[in-house]
Amino acid sequence: MSSVRARAAAKINLHLGVGAVRDDGYHGLCTVYQAISLYDEVTAEPWHSWRIETRAEPYVDRAAVPGVGDNIVTRAGTLLADLHDVELRADLVVEKAIPVAGGLAGGSADAAATLVVLDELWDLQTPQEELLKLAAQLGSDVPFALLGGAGHGTGRGELVEAVPDPGEWWWVVVPQRDGLSTPAVYRHFDDMVPHAGTPASADGLIAALATGDPRELAACLHNDLQRPAFDLRPELRSLITLGESEGALRGLVSGSGPTCVFLCEDESHADTVADGLRYTGHVTALVATGPAPGPAADATD
Ligand code: ATP
Repeated sequence: MSSVRARAAAKINLHLGVGAVRDDGYHGLCTVYQAISLYDEVTAEPWHSWRIETRAEPYVDRAAVPGVGDNIVTRAGTLLADLHDVELRADLVVEKAIPVAGGLAGGSADAAATLVVLDELWDLQTPQEELLKLAAQLGSDVPFALLGGAGHGTGRGELVEAVPDPGEWWWVVVPQRDGLSTPAVYRHFDDMVPHAGTPASADGLIAALATGDPRELAACLHNDLQRPAFDLRPELRSLITLGESEGALRGLVSGSGPTCVFLCEDESHADTVADGLRYTGHVTALVATGPAPGPAADATD
């Protein structure tokens, strides 16, 4: 086989309950993830050392993606090789459509896709539970990125259980020019909520998701990081108001932001809301659907 590739889906948090900081420095979370059809793509070919080429859509800040040494995909590949005690390396091409530092876990998605792609390229046949352990070492969002679909995340977000998600959900995704640092948003959350306790329960959201009804889901969307993100980027509050005035059922900051997502009734409604946002000057308004699958390796000769 000469190359293997996989798509890496962005995630949004339909519910993000943030609790107190734990002894290990992470916040306790109760979250519901959904993977959406905004994809990076990772392609791997055999090579004797690590090599990464990054390509990016025009709205993605390619310069913000680290090179070989610091890129999460190299860490993923090295962890996988170490697990099997092999010296294998690879040539990776990462095509980015997911904004960097956008609150959509693009790096986590790339890492999960890399595990799947290299496992196939190197014919390692690593059991899924071993890949999930590597994923948790790579980052809190990486286990979900490996699974895709919709999942309930607890712990620091790395303990994931699939949740029923029978609907077809349509989102308008509005990236921002400059990313937001996730640690900075959590620090601001700590300043604003110094006595956070147990993270807010996701039971209502999980029940709404199971109805498949976008109006039920819209009423339950929840993100504890939205207020700190608004505080750091006041323009996001106006963007959410604007998207809702263009007819979206509900606007929400995605994860730690700054990407904003807007839930719509169906595909044509999402197209209308996206057109409205483009017309008002938000040049990039993407339409995506969820839930999207986790990465699957596709080999070519
Ligand atoms: P998180 O909430 O997981 O921090 P995010 O969606 O806000 O994620 P990412 O796009 O995953 O942000 O990037 C976070 C940081 O990870 C970036 O600022 C970048 O320095 C680093 N990074 C490492 N590898 C990658 C990659 N393949 N793609 C994007 N960013 C990467």
